[in-house]
Amino acid sequence: MRTIAIFSKLKGFFDKIQQVDANISSVGSDVYKRNLELEHEIKEKTEELNKANNTLLTMNSIWDMMNSSEPLTNVLDSIVNSMQNQMGYINTLVLTKEHDKDGDFFLVKSHADSKMLSKALQQNSLLNIKEFRIPWKDDLILTQALKERTIKSTSDIEAVIHKILENLEYNFVQNIIHSTASKSVIVVPIFRRKNEMQEKEEFGCMLVFSQSAASTENEIKFLTLFANQIELAITIAGLFEEIRKQAVTDPLTGLYNRRYFEENINREAERALRLGQPFSLISLDLDHLKTINDTFGHQYGDVAIKTISNVLKKQARSIDVPARIGGEEFNVMLPGVDSYGAMIAAERIRAAIEATQLEKIGNVTASIGVATFLEHSKNVFDLTELADQAMYRAKINGRNQVQMTQKQIETNWQKVAVNAFLDIVSKQRVQIPPELAGDITARLSAVSAYEKNAKEVIYSVVDILTQSYNSTYQSGFTKSKLLLAVKLAKNMEMSKEEIDKLKIAVLLYDIGNIMIPENIFKKEDSLTDDEKNLIRKHPVIAAREILSPISSIQDVIPIIEKHHENWDGSGYPGKVSGKDIPLGSQIILLIDAYYALTQDRPYRKAFSIDKALEIIQQGAGTKWSKELVDNFIPLIKHEDRE
Ligand code: GH3
Ligand code: MG
Repeated sequence: MRTIAIFSKLKGFFDKIQQVDANISSVGSDVYKRNLELEHEIKEKTEELNKANNTLLTMNSIWDMMNSSEPLTNVLDSIVNSMQNQMGYINTLVLTKEHDKDGDFFLVKSHADSKMLSKALQQNSLLNIKEFRIPWKDDLILTQALKERTIKSTSDIEAVIHKILENLEYNFVQNIIHSTASKSVIVVPIFRRKNEMQEKEEFGCMLVFSQSAASTENEIKFLTLFANQIELAITIAGLFEEIRKQAVTDPLTGLYNRRYFEENINREAERALRLGQPFSLISLDLDHLKTINDTFGHQYGDVAIKTISNVLKKQARSIDVPARIGGEEFNVMLPGVDSYGAMIAAERIRAAIEATQLEKIGNVTASIGVATFLEHSKNVFDLTELADQAMYRAKINGRNQVQMTQKQIETNWQKVAVNAFLDIVSKQRVQIPPELAGDITARLSAVSAYEKNAKEVIYSVVDILTQSYNSTYQSGFTKSKLLLAVKLAKNMEMSKEEIDKLKIAVLLYDIGNIMIPENIFKKEDSLTDDEKNLIRKHPVIAAREILSPISSIQDVIPIIEKHHENWDGSGYPGKVSGKDIPLGSQIILLIDAYYALTQDRPYRKAFSIDKALEIIQQGAGTKWSKELVDNFIPLIKHEDRE
């Protein structure tokens, strides 16, 4: 329908021009003046025609997009960019209305690529406009447009920006305005249809910066039309996303995906408990995929993954559930199969993988762990952990093999960590502000160490504790530090037991800092010798003091005590060297240094990742062992690329 409307409008323009043409030939006197007028009119009409043409093009690209299954963000990006490029607006942003426990707010979901805008942002060290959170307020033009369901426009850009970005300095706002040369701003409310029957819901607003001070009636008409198209496009993109979310298979391999697998295993567990029937879980990880990627290229890595998937599909009975859980991790659930049967199935899978010949690569192998529900655990989370531990044992024992779980969860580091923290905090072994202590104890008491979210709680507890003595510490660091330490430990082929100890040591190694006066941490001037000494030695001594009464972590204390010892014996407090330093301590020293280097400090800016790695490389053989550095650097380089 709308296409037809635009075509008839276009036709109207052509008719007008023809009429003008006809007029020219019939004019006798005063030709010159008339000609000028006509020329002017033709120019105007041509401009209008061009605009209509662009409108049509822009609409067309949105229609095209509506038929593709682009994700919502791509759709929005394409809309804002065509507004800017084809319609000649200075900048366009789409803000969505969001909601969380603190109420409604707007987020910038998409903005057109604009050199000027990004320059203005950069000058004000605001690299990512998408991080702004604009609280919902009644006097905001965005709010008004949505509430009144009408397009709003104003030439008072300054007031609009100030209201939206309330906390920003005057100069920053001026900068944005000047660098964009905008004369007015138009706010188009956007709604989304939830489904045929339902009323439209508020989606957000499109914010358009225009070169002209006032918007014409035609422009508003066009934007209204445009908003309708956007509404359709986002509704359809939303539907696609919904469908994708509901998908049960992984696109690369066609195996079931993690979400489906988890739903299924939980359902199966309920059934198994009700009927007293076992099921088994096979956890499989491709061996040396990184080497395959590095040697032959990523596409061959993908071939290896697909090969394993095909074997799993072929070997599976119709009731089995083979799934790709992550990049190169696979699970197979075998309903009704006990541990004996599962070992046979797993061995068959292992052999079939090894026997498959691949172009260029030759053959690939996999390490496999097996655990059985009811027999080894009555809890899905523990079962997964057991199968995973068994798989890891298969790796350490030489890969390309199947390992059955060793019944009990070997050591539950989460349980040890939760108890250690409860001990430290609740028994007030250290000076923690009472309100913090209360919060931390409540969090810890609320989780059982076996629960899925126990880890997250532990990480946040460490974040909070660390922030209590070091306000520059970023939350989220604990988790990534721990993950990095574990990766490095695995690369160094540490045993599962040692890794568990290391995990707890990573969480606790800095705890002695709680006893250091805060003003020393924040000091910008250089420290006195006494202060330096305090910073160096005190935490290690304090950590021992804090931790030694806790019986469950006795074998973790040596790792913590030696995490400032250097490979060449130049560290402290014991001047221990080489292999006398536990590997765990070396890992902590290195990881801690890496995080310290890549983070701002009161006395210096953060180093780039490359520079940090260079510094770490310089310490190879003195601060830490060469072998450790050789294992560490590719780990970061690889992560950085991903
Ligand atoms: P291990 O035998 O100890 O399992 O060694 P590995 O190299 O397989 O394991 P590691 O965990 O060190 O590295 C896994 C690599 O797999 C890193 C990651 O980039 C790669 N990977 C993950 N997903 C994919 C994928 O979908 N395709 C490809 N080609 N590589 C992937
Ligand atoms: Mg692997």
